Amino acid sequence: MDSYEETKWCAGCRKYVHYLRSLDRCYCVHCDRKVRLFSRTDMDRFRSAPVPPGPAPRIHFN
Ligand SMILES: [Zn+2]
Repeated sequence: MDSYEETKWCAGCRKYVHYLRSLDRCYCVHCDRKVRLFSRTDMDRFRSAPVPPGPAPRIHFN
């Protein structure tokens, strides 16, 4: 179990780190901060990415 996928973004260390998983959250092994799946930069990149083609969003007319 030494996959690089076993890392998450730590805002404290400012890098992807290995983490400890507890019941409902994950902690950085270095600084004990909560970690998340992506850095804000990566998240912005996803958000700004063009919407993939697919079914149009459902619109409600009354
Ligand atoms: Zn950290």
